[in-house]
Amino acid sequence: MRKNDSRHYGCLGVGVGPANLSLASLLYGDETIASLFLEQKESFTWHDGQQLPGTTLQVSMLKDLVSLADPTNRFSFLSYLHSQGKIYHFINAQFDAMPRHEYRNYLRWASERNENIVFNEKVLSVDFDDTFVVETDRRTLTADNISVGIGTSPCVPAVAPAPLSDDQFHVSDILDKGRNLGGKRVCVVGGGQSGAEVFLDLISRPKAERPRRVSWVSRRRNYFPMDDSPFVNDFYMPSYSDYFAQLDRATREQLNTQHVLTSDGISEATLREVYQQVYVQNFVEGNRDLVALYPGHEVTRVERGTVGDWSMEMRSGDHPGTATRFDTDVIVWATGFRPATPTFLEPLAHRLEREGGEYRIDDSFAVRWDGPATHRIFVHNAAQQQRGLADRNLSLVAWRSQRIADRMRGVRTDEQTESFIDWAPKSHPSESAQGVRG
Ligand SMILES: Cc1cc2nc3c(=O)[nH]c(=O)nc-3n(C[C@H](O)[C@H](O)[C@H](O)COP(=O)(O)OP(=O)(O)OC[C@H]3O[C@@H](n4cnc5c(N)ncnc54)[C@H](O)[C@@H]3O)c2cc1C
Repeated sequence: MRKNDSRHYGCLGVGVGPANLSLASLLYGDETIASLFLEQKESFTWHDGQQLPGTTLQVSMLKDLVSLADPTNRFSFLSYLHSQGKIYHFINAQFDAMPRHEYRNYLRWASERNENIVFNEKVLSVDFDDTFVVETDRRTLTADNISVGIGTSPCVPAVAPAPLSDDQFHVSDILDKGRNLGGKRVCVVGGGQSGAEVFLDLISRPKAERPRRVSWVSRRRNYFPMDDSPFVNDFYMPSYSDYFAQLDRATREQLNTQHVLTSDGISEATLREVYQQVYVQNFVEGNRDLVALYPGHEVTRVERGTVGDWSMEMRSGDHPGTATRFDTDVIVWATGFRPATPTFLEPLAHRLEREGGEYRIDDSFAVRWDGPATHRIFVHNAAQQQRGLADRNLSLVAWRSQRIADRMRGVRTDEQTESFIDWAPKSHPSESAQGVRG
């Protein structure tokens, strides 16, 4: 039975992934803003369906929930390590990159120590009647501000037969559906980090559990690494996010396309492991038929084969007129994620401004709308077209939450020094007097 919650909140969060967990951590203990964060799942998970062994975080360990905004916060990664008594061991382990599972454990630890987080409660609708009115599957709540942190949904190309099934599924289900693949032919589609991790996992399994053939198809012309070099990482700084937001839409779109490998490429360490395992299978184990590599190819057709398998057709970017066909037993679509649709905002949809597929936001990640400035809907991880590739990445999670918390508190905290790079043209006195050298 539904009941009204008599308490009025300053901030009501929808979804508890890293984004809203960061905001919940920064607001913790703030008696001026009563906050509540609702998560539909029964307990904390973080991409658990694809936590393959050996996978690691693709950002610096310092980019935790809070440290880049508030290093003294009790929910920092260091605080987690210390509270578990393993801070020396973590240092001595000398991880080049943090195990993804350990990051998940850290997130869960933070969620369990914050009583403003509630699990097993799904937000169904948000409306406005002098204040936000939120219907969940348990009760009705009211709030001054809403923070939407609902993350992403799995995405497959139009050629994937609907519905997905046990023998053609999205990579987010690999742990569940990818168990019994010994002796089968498996095709992994997608040349990003997830595709690389699944491919590596499949070809590294013990002989009895290993598929007999593993194909790896990618539209990209090769299996390209993620560019994680120093100046490129200046794209993942707050000052660049603010600079990017001022650019015209066409330039922003162009930059996101050009820089996609700064975010969606494969970690070099993973690529090295993949190559070494392919070498070992070919030249040490003599297992020459195990691997088939097809970068620069797009899957153009998938049909049921004659013996219940899948018949796939793909075309090379270099030879688009020629189709290659092959059969496989199982397809793993490692074809990405797209921002989840906040269907619960439907009652307010006509009042919220949009830009392309996104809600138009201001510099505090608040959706522009026709309602009062005292009431805001903030969005996390949903403004890549407006704020750049960093918006969907963990890099700016703490900073973005700080901006949102600042807006609710009516302050603007000091920010870190800007990038070394002058992103915007600046006129320097010496240059304008003498002219700029060509
Ligand atoms: C396997 C994987 C690894 C990644 N690794 C990295 C990495 O190393 N570095 C990096 O920068 N980025 C990484 N990312 C990208 C990104 O950082 C993550 O996707 C991150 O989880 C996004 O956080 P989020 O809080 O926005 O969303 P999510 O983590 O997806 O959380 C959203 C939550 O909202 C809940 N929810 C949705 N609707 C409702 C509702 N109506 N009511 C209540 N709850 C709701 C969902 O159940 C979910 O728990 C990775 C992504 C994947 C898929």
